[in-house]
Amino acid sequence: MRQLYCSLFGHDFHVSKQVTYHVKEYTCKHCKTEVTNNGKGGYTHLTPKFKEINSVLERIHSRRMERRINKPELIDPQENSNLEPSTEFEFPLV
Ligand SMILES: [Zn+2]
Repeated sequence: MRQLYCSLFGHDFHVSKQVTYHVKEYTCKHCKTEVTNNGKGGYTHLTPKFKEINSVLERIHSRRMERRINKPELIDPQENSNLEPSTEFEFPLV
């Protein structure tokens, strides 16, 4: 019955997992069919092979996100304020 509904009205996909900005996994609300972006602007069935590819993509993506979050900490304003008093202190000595 559920698959008949989908064949008549089409699948009703909703995002089940955001892999990267461009790649998502979708599950049909009615028949639980899983699809994913295939990188060619279309969709393909979420086979074990694609699940594996997506898990690798997800790992790379989350690592990039971590780096982006960590970057501002390198130029932390607190580090600069720690440096300033020491340089002021050194001036009279020179
Ligand atoms: Zn469906």
